[in-house]
Amino acid sequence: MKLSLRGVGKTYSGRRGETNALCPLDMDVREGEFISLVGPSGCGKSTLLHIVAGLEPPTVGTVDLDGERVRGPGAELGLMFQQQTLFPWLSVRDNVRFPLTLANRCARGRAGDADRQAAQVEGLLRLVGLWDFRDSYPAELSGGMQQRAALARALVGQPEVLLMDEPFGALDAQTREEMQELLLHLIQRHRITTLFVTHDVDEALLLSDRVVVFSERPGRVLASLDVTFARAARSSELKLDEAFLHQKREILALLRGRPRTATQRDRLLLGLTNTRTEGGS
Ligand code: ADP
Repeated sequence: MKLSLRGVGKTYSGRRGETNALCPLDMDVREGEFISLVGPSGCGKSTLLHIVAGLEPPTVGTVDLDGERVRGPGAELGLMFQQQTLFPWLSVRDNVRFPLTLANRCARGRAGDADRQAAQVEGLLRLVGLWDFRDSYPAELSGGMQQRAALARALVGQPEVLLMDEPFGALDAQTREEMQELLLHLIQRHRITTLFVTHDVDEALLLSDRVVVFSERPGRVLASLDVTFARAARSSELKLDEAFLHQKREILALLRGRPRTATQRDRLLLGLTNTRTEGGS
């Protein structure tokens, strides 16, 4: 298993007391699998992503990547967030190159020689359509172009796992579709294991092998649904497909009903098929 989460839960302690953000859950992610996490706002999706990224320690439980315990951030994990996270004082090319520069300095990355790295950065910039803008600064780019640069930066360290937190959430509808198609193209080509937080059910179904649906806070897993249509056939036209609409209705019913636990009876009542619960005690 690429990623194994065992009993991972989180309670934040602060001045205003404790916030139980995430109930302990188990989750296994196969190599190359693309999983979307959907659920109401505040149910702990970002918290889970930060725990997997090693940016936030779980209160309970463990995360293993390739059988090794995750204890902090590392080059094996590529991150991409909704907010603009490029460094404004660096050019597009230097932003994309930044993780390699950092790895070189720490001498713990998979950095090779400078020529190979330059070629890698160029290849990614061409792939995301930003080669002509390599010397521009983030403020000179549109929101979509900035997210293309952020995607290239997330991929430059050749991560084992890509962690994406509503990366297209702030984009207009058309740019968002373009980014989804670019991401589909990239994941079909590279088969990168990905955890993707979104509240857009269409986006989750378009991109994923599996959609994990969370309850409201404290988040627990209501269902884990395998997406049944072939990824090869996916495009924005898929949204008119009957099978797509059926799965979308399943997920929306879970989100609207917000059942506290997905019991067998709940699933039968909702007419769900191909659903299995996961974790959530
Ligand atoms: P989601 O991504 O599903 O919207 P989050 O993981 O961001 O949810 O947050 C889950 C809950 O944990 C929310 O109630 C949020 O206010 C709380 N929370 C998140 N981060 C912190 C923090 N650093 N300190 C205290 N509470 C937090």
